[in-house]
Amino acid sequence: RGSAEKFEFQAEVSRLMDIIINSLYSNKDIFLRELISNASDALDKIRFLSLTDKEILGEGDNSKLEIQIKLDKANKVLSIRDRGIGMTKEDLIKNLGTIAKSGTSAFVEKMQTSGDLNLIGQFGVGFYSVYLVADYVEVISKHNDDKQHVWESKADGAFAISEDTWNEPLGRGTEIRLHLRDEAQEYLEEGKLKDLVKRYSEFINFPIYIWGSKEIDVDVPADEDESNDEEAPPESSSEEEEDDAEKSEDDDAEKSKTKKVKETIYEWELLNDVKAIWLRSPKEVTEEEYTKFYHSLAKDFSDDKPMSWSHFNAEGDVEFKAVLFVPPKAPHDLYESYYNSKKSNLKLYVRRVFISDEFDELLPKYLNFLLGLVDSDTLPLNVSREMLQQHSSLKTIKKKLIRKALDMIRKIAEEDPDEFSDKEKKAAEKSSDDDEKKGQYSRFWNEFGKSIKLGIIEDATNRNRLAKLLRFESSKSDGKLISLDQYISRMKSGQKDIFYITGSSKEQLEKSPFLERLKKKNYEVIFFTDPVDEYLMQYLMDYEDKKFQNVSKEGLKLGKDSKDKELKESFKDLTKWWKTALSFDNVDDVKVSNRLDNTPCVVVTSKYGWSANMERIMQSQTL
Ligand code: ADP
Ligand code: MG
Repeated sequence: RGSAEKFEFQAEVSRLMDIIINSLYSNKDIFLRELISNASDALDKIRFLSLTDKEILGEGDNSKLEIQIKLDKANKVLSIRDRGIGMTKEDLIKNLGTIAKSGTSAFVEKMQTSGDLNLIGQFGVGFYSVYLVADYVEVISKHNDDKQHVWESKADGAFAISEDTWNEPLGRGTEIRLHLRDEAQEYLEEGKLKDLVKRYSEFINFPIYIWGSKEIDVDVPADEDESNDEEAPPESSSEEEEDDAEKSEDDDAEKSKTKKVKETIYEWELLNDVKAIWLRSPKEVTEEEYTKFYHSLAKDFSDDKPMSWSHFNAEGDVEFKAVLFVPPKAPHDLYESYYNSKKSNLKLYVRRVFISDEFDELLPKYLNFLLGLVDSDTLPLNVSREMLQQHSSLKTIKKKLIRKALDMIRKIAEEDPDEFSDKEKKAAEKSSDDDEKKGQYSRFWNEFGKSIKLGIIEDATNRNRLAKLLRFESSKSDGKLISLDQYISRMKSGQKDIFYITGSSKEQLEKSPFLERLKKKNYEVIFFTDPVDEYLMQYLMDYEDKKFQNVSKEGLKLGKDSKDKELKESFKDLTKWWKTALSFDNVDDVKVSNRLDNTPCVVVTSKYGWSANMERIMQSQTL
């Protein structure tokens, strides 16, 4: 078309499209759920805006918040249309091609190693999955602030945009037309599409219709001659039989003017029942439904089940319903941008209306790995996001969510038969699916343990609860992970402090001279080997009235020895000499100690100084 403006795709986007178009990936179905999810997002956006401005929805069909699927077999075109917010010309240029999202290159990388396209939605590039099934795509869009435009591309590195002067006006919203590849003709079959929508888009909160065909019986006027022929009484009939025949002839006489034929009619057929799972009673929702709901929230359509979930109804001054999930795996960028990201994975609804999924007031940062939603009855509907953000009941919601989240995590541990403690063991015995829960907590710990540590650092109110969830190895744990409760339960009688040591690896720590004496005396020492542990231990001062003692620091007391004083006296001259020999710039003090066994001497950190490990970490950060 002459008036079309041409654009090049941003380089990463172009690479992504190449990969998709050449992909041998067999599960091409995923494009449909990506398009439906985009349609649903667009509908959420316009519905949200309409809360403060009713006019925005318009009238008639325009105000219907729905998604429509149409098949055009003759032209091999599948189209998906929504009455969502739509895109202006500028939106089309930016969103569909020229601006690469942060996930783009991460996804390209992942594709090259795994080839698994299933996760495309999680990386914010789901739209491009249309090229799995189409070689030419048109996006027709009408936003309230602009004229209707068409975006089109054959995935050849470029796309074009024109003002739309030939298609029917959409009113508002977006229609995506997929010109299907020869090998993707199955997506013109109604049955296939109905199946896919039911499978993948069950939890979309807007009605999804398909322009479906239906065979119905219709009465049509019957041909007179034909009907007479049929109804002629058999010649051989006896009198009695004739009576019967006469009767049936009477019956048929009424019908004789019409006959039944099959006819195909087309109509919009609703494919989903738009039920909100979180409004139902938790008792009525099955495990399978929660799993599916999780998949739709997470845009994760693997077979992985969430590790756990919590569905509850908060009552009182602040009423809300919530569903929280612990995902099976940490998302690819969970800790990458921890300190500057504010992204929570919680969706906020107010009275069934989606408000936002970027509300950082709902959960503290360290719980960003959770997924779920909150639907509040208390928050006002007709205010801006900014005003909602300051609403006082958000604090209460947050407090309750944290409590529930930590409970849910504690339960993962309690139900795991591999976890220690009698109480926990008992809980595990009761559960029927022991096998499934076996090792679940160590899986949790491997994926999200760092979040718990960050929580201990950040959340003073819940520090003790979080400390209960800590796991680590120790000089006696035999390669297994243990908890603080477990450590305390086997402390030696008379042991007051919890001993720990920090370092870069368990192997290094096991050889540490600081451990010699403690080992000999049969004390257990916790190994902290994650860089974050150094920070953690600046916040975690005590647990259950026991103090933490770094065994590489000054102040380690292993019980009094009667000879201590004597030894100190007799070596006084030597320690004095050492002190001057090393000079005060290098050491604070030189002491006789009972912490060693074979090693003659050791450098100890002063009580408030950085441990050697911390020095190492700080050095690696400044380099
Ligand atoms: P994501 O949905 O994760 O943002 P996509 O690749 O699926 O990533 O979509 C890219 C962007 O294109 C969306 O963020 C949105 O701005 C825009 N978009 C896609 N489909 C629609 C639609 N049906 N209506 C309005 N905007 C859309
Ligand atoms: Mg999307």
